[in-house]
Amino acid sequence: MGKKTKVGKTRKDKFYQLAKETGLRSRAAFKLIQLNRKFGFLQQSQVCLDLCAAPGGWMQVAKQNMPVSSIVIGVDLFPIRPIAGCIGLVEDITTEKCRQSLTKELQSWKADVVLHDGAPNVGRNWLYDAYQQICLTLNALKLTTQFLRSGGWFVTKVFRSKDYNALLWVLKQLFKKVHATKPSASRKESAEIFVVCQGYIAPDHIDPRLLDSKYVFEELDLDAKKKSSLLHPEKQKRIKAEGYTAQDIALRNDLAATEFMQAENALAALQGVGSIRIDDKRIANHKKTTPEILECCKDLKVLGRKDIKGLVQWWKDVRELLVKKETPLVVGDPNAEEEKAKPLTQAEIEDMEDAELQTQIDTILDEEKKDLKRKRKKTLKTKAKLHEKMNLNMVIKGDDGPVEEMEHEIFELKNINTSAELDGLLDVQPDFAVDENLPEQPKLSKYKYYDKDEQNVNDDLNYGDEDDEEQSEASEDDTNLDKRGLGLSDDDEEVSKGKNKRKKRSENPLIKSTDFRDKNTKREQRVQLWYEKDVLQNIKSDDDEENYDLDNLAKEYKAKGVSVLGESTLTADDELIQGKKAKRRARHEATAKESSSESSDSEDEDDKHDNEDSVTETKVKKVRLSENEMALGAFLTRNKKTRRDLIDAAWNRYAFNDENLPVWFVQDEDEHMTKPQPVPKELTAEYQRKLQEVNVRPIKKVMEAKARKQRRSTKRLAKAKKMAEKIMENSDSTNHEKSKQLKKVYKKAQEKKKEVTYVVAKKQSAARRARRPAGVKGQYRVVDPREKKDKRSVVAKKKREKGGKGGKGRKGSRK
Ligand code: SAM
Repeated sequence: MGKKTKVGKTRKDKFYQLAKETGLRSRAAFKLIQLNRKFGFLQQSQVCLDLCAAPGGWMQVAKQNMPVSSIVIGVDLFPIRPIAGCIGLVEDITTEKCRQSLTKELQSWKADVVLHDGAPNVGRNWLYDAYQQICLTLNALKLTTQFLRSGGWFVTKVFRSKDYNALLWVLKQLFKKVHATKPSASRKESAEIFVVCQGYIAPDHIDPRLLDSKYVFEELDLDAKKKSSLLHPEKQKRIKAEGYTAQDIALRNDLAATEFMQAENALAALQGVGSIRIDDKRIANHKKTTPEILECCKDLKVLGRKDIKGLVQWWKDVRELLVKKETPLVVGDPNAEEEKAKPLTQAEIEDMEDAELQTQIDTILDEEKKDLKRKRKKTLKTKAKLHEKMNLNMVIKGDDGPVEEMEHEIFELKNINTSAELDGLLDVQPDFAVDENLPEQPKLSKYKYYDKDEQNVNDDLNYGDEDDEEQSEASEDDTNLDKRGLGLSDDDEEVSKGKNKRKKRSENPLIKSTDFRDKNTKREQRVQLWYEKDVLQNIKSDDDEENYDLDNLAKEYKAKGVSVLGESTLTADDELIQGKKAKRRARHEATAKESSSESSDSEDEDDKHDNEDSVTETKVKKVRLSENEMALGAFLTRNKKTRRDLIDAAWNRYAFNDENLPVWFVQDEDEHMTKPQPVPKELTAEYQRKLQEVNVRPIKKVMEAKARKQRRSTKRLAKAKKMAEKIMENSDSTNHEKSKQLKKVYKKAQEKKKEVTYVVAKKQSAARRARRPAGVKGQYRVVDPREKKDKRSVVAKKKREKGGKGGKGRKGSRK
């Protein structure tokens, strides 16, 4: 009962983890695992000798942790469970016969590690057990000196008794380093401790007295006469109260009530005992076992003389009664009764604990299985629901629906910085109120004005973000709207109104702009957008009209037979315009001929053609402008420079009309033989800078992808950090092991690049649809065997072309 509380949850978890990792279930095995994790002696060993090995937990651990070709030999009084790759001998390690058997097995080999977990199967009393165990350990050490190689390890269990230090001293004479440790798998209340001896010195000669228990340890005096110290505590030298010493806590200081009852001398049995554990129902139910006695049993160290006397009296009463009761039983079945009365041995206690541990591990495993099952069921259910919804078209694949965080963001108070802002928030008027007295709502216009540039592309370049104020504008006069839509309205008031609205919107602290551009760039881009309007593209300038009149005039003169001077010297632009006009006219005529009967239809078609023309024109005009050209455009709009001036300026001494010139020559000419355009350099530089900014700025999708990547890596790192913390907290593993585990964890946390496997298509399968080739995992790409060569030739061709263009000799020859 008490054990359950003693075995803490974390310890249980640890054992469960160990059991899961190793497949072993015994506490003894866990102890060796923990020792080995701390010192790592098994990994370095080829030959292992396990003294007192039954039932075989340690041997299993040794085999699991040692190299594959290793040998494990176990010795015990009882047969050892057969383990693959291990040899079991049934011998008493204190005998000469055992030594001979081991010599026979090992022949000329020497062990790299000797393990000893021996505990004598006696349960007379604690002092006796401890003495027996320490003698057994010395015997194990004796065997070790014969079979351990120089530099090898000796790992032994020792009960901490008065002879413990003497044993440590002996071990220190034979080994370079001696570590005493208590793995967490060992019960806290057990006096056992494990001594790991590292680096056997292997002296040529060992003094036989060093391995003689009679010489090394004190003779056991079980009838210690220290009654007075218990019964007359006041006569003792008063020691300063400092609480229990470490030794008091570490030693096995509780005594089983059955052991106490069997003791020949109650006072001697109570020497050094901290508490009495009631381990027999008969004792617990005995009428003399009063609550007062039970209380006294809890802590003997605080008891006075009277209480000790009371305990001695209780011992007498219960003992008498037990003896009386036992008599008839002895008659009936002496063997059975002997079994009952016998206190539990160390091995039996450990067996019981193992069984208990096993059941605990089993229940945890069961719980985990159930949990898994539950989770799987839940996921299946959710999946099925989602499927159903998708079938009903309720959910669009990839659409997660509204995200809750957005709402939080809107209602977050941290965005409100001043009290005025807070007041403003609190003082919000309702959106609308149901009030009969309210004046009638102004009627909305029949048609709602839709302006592509004004509404769809707002300040934030977001589409369709319009507010109520803008809606109310829809009631304005429709004709006026047309003007405004084009930005041609000369109503200053309106403009200022619009500005105010925009200003209001931008000042609102609760509306955040996602735009990352600065004010100037925004304005510039808006201007550009405005100029790209189709309406503007089709506006004819005064010059065009003038040209058109001139054309008509020339035609008239031509018809009269007058030759027109300079007819062929039309500019390229004019020629282009004229060509287009002529084309349109020709098409017009052709259509008119074809569908002379369907006059109304032809008109429609004309419109269509016109539209098509405008589309082709806009397509032509959508050619991306260079920085220079954009600067020129801006210059034209800001200054009063007319188009004519520009055309005039084009007639200069650099103007040639040579034909069929090589490309490199034309490029050279463009670079060095042109009159600089009347655009200030600063303006061009500004456009260059802006374009660079735009190019450098990552697009939204890239930014999102990057953020996603970063989020994933942060998550992974946080997980790795948690794991690392757990590893660092693990006191059972050595620093070397920890660093190894840490490396592994961090390696796992790093992002792996997706590797693409290139699969060369074979002739016979090239035509068919490529199937995943056998043995290829992950992403793969089927490539043509020619692809590589083709690519190489393209690159080579490009290089050749580059070399040709930059030829200096040819450039020089022109001049
Ligand atoms: N290490 C073992 C394991 O992992 O399964 C458990 C060992 S158990 C605690 C102690 C063992 O010591 C018992 O099996 C007992 O038979 C053995 N033993 C005690 N005295 C012995 C002796 N003189 N020679 C050989 N074995 C002995």
